[in-house]
Amino acid sequence: MRSTMMDAPLLVSRILEHGSTVHGRSEVVTWTGAEPRRMTYAEVGATAARLAHALRDDLGVTGDQRVATFMWNNNEHLVAYFAVPAMGAVLHTLNIRLFPEQVAYIATHAQDRVVLVDGTLIPLLAKVLAQLSTVEHVVVVGAGDPAPLVEVAGGRVAVHHWADLLRDKPDRYDWPELDERDAAALCYTSGTTGNPKGVAYSHRSIWLHSLQVCMPEGFGLGPTARELAIVPMFHAMSWGIPYAAFISGASLIMPDRFLQGAPIAQMIAAERPTLAGAVPTIWTDLLAHLDANEVDTSSLTEVIVGGSACPPALMHAFAERHGVDVVHSWGMTEMSPLGSVARPPAGATGDEAWRYRYSQGRIPAGVAARIIGPDGRPLPADGESVGEIEVRGPWVTARYLGDDTPDPDKFRDGWLRTGDVGTLSPDGYLTLTDRAKDVIKSGGEWISSVDLENALMAHPAVLEACVVGVPDDRWDERPLATVVLRDGAAASAEELREFLGGRVAHWQVPERWSFIEAVPKTSVGKFDKKQVRSRYAEGVLE
Ligand code: ADP
Repeated sequence: MRSTMMDAPLLVSRILEHGSTVHGRSEVVTWTGAEPRRMTYAEVGATAARLAHALRDDLGVTGDQRVATFMWNNNEHLVAYFAVPAMGAVLHTLNIRLFPEQVAYIATHAQDRVVLVDGTLIPLLAKVLAQLSTVEHVVVVGAGDPAPLVEVAGGRVAVHHWADLLRDKPDRYDWPELDERDAAALCYTSGTTGNPKGVAYSHRSIWLHSLQVCMPEGFGLGPTARELAIVPMFHAMSWGIPYAAFISGASLIMPDRFLQGAPIAQMIAAERPTLAGAVPTIWTDLLAHLDANEVDTSSLTEVIVGGSACPPALMHAFAERHGVDVVHSWGMTEMSPLGSVARPPAGATGDEAWRYRYSQGRIPAGVAARIIGPDGRPLPADGESVGEIEVRGPWVTARYLGDDTPDPDKFRDGWLRTGDVGTLSPDGYLTLTDRAKDVIKSGGEWISSVDLENALMAHPAVLEACVVGVPDDRWDERPLATVVLRDGAAASAEELREFLGGRVAHWQVPERWSFIEAVPKTSVGKFDKKQVRSRYAEGVLE
């Protein structure tokens, strides 16, 4: 029997209409270093309509053409997040931190026709614009001298200004009825593991994922929440928070280019967010600032940490010294990105609750997960069997953009191979031991680089520790520990070896140590293990 229910499509335009009317008084605030810039969601709705008119009427954007952004997290980026998909075009969030060759590769692969660029990012875009062969229009947002773009563009690309384009445009747009399965937005993996690969989210996948983000089991957004959205809008759609905010009515605080500990602390004190989300390195930086300065963080009840394993020491420090709950979460670009959130089950208290919180979290109803052994067969979800994690669900990609068939290295029988290794418990909690390519294979045994890092980062003198496998004649591979000490703190390799000896099996303790100024980071702020390994190979690290 077929159901009797309406087949109303799940469209981004509906999220926009809802947020800008029902939650019209909620606001988005962009940090500027001086007076913050504010917009109500009603104004975001009206501006999105103007942008859609400008794109269609002035720049001739039709059908599913790609409109890229080269922007920080700010009000106008939020407007583009809605206007572009709602009008039927495809939003492509370019990662401003990638090498110029990678940006050129991605923009050309996606066939971007228009690029919206922040005025502050003009010099960066100018470096690559000549190679963006499909781009016909660049729209400059905010102040900034467009001359470098005009110079490079050489007549091939028209350079416009956002304010000029949007002036006098109607503040309503007749959003088209689209197929919910069509692409709404495009994001490329940041290439930690090779060439960037495109993932095209549908209107439908964005809807279903956003509902999960709003859930108490997800990031718990509601109309009284104020979310400090630190995860870049060019990295995995800022974890889906912009769309979830318009569904739930949560207000947004956008850091623009001010991502260091000090301005983030100022934002927290001034704009009083209740929630925030970012990768561990941002929180490490903020923690050092909070420990050294008096900052009012009383509004903040919970911060989500994901993108890399969250060191337990960081969770305890925030909870015990600043009264902020750190909630660990796991996901990936290919999963929209939400995969799991580490909220303990009902009834778990004390140490048991902490053990759940250290894990990568519980998978939601929208994500099915399984563990696959080295022979390609599923292993039991018993919390002990270790294998590669595979997932599937309505907000998980089935292939990469441009591939006719799913790449067998990344997909198997309709499942996404995450490349992450770990266990799955009977009650649905994932615990990652490592990324498959970061596991250290020492004399036939596996050493988790993450376990060693977490153990080292529990030492009071250690600010950051990044562990990689390096070639070893006898054992094949052995761990190399690179360590950044806190300002003014001291610890020798011998002392840290001894400290580790009490926490991990003695054969796992690294013999190779390197004390460095900073761990190299990827374009999205994760430890760049590829670079650490190659620095070691080049003899730059001892
Ligand atoms: P990239 O692969 O370029 O880093 P993603 O942001 O999509 O881009 O990365 C997803 C990967 O990040 C996951 O497959 C996993 O290895 C890692 N990751 C994400 N969250 C966590 C977490 N909480 N703990 C450990 N690893 C994580």
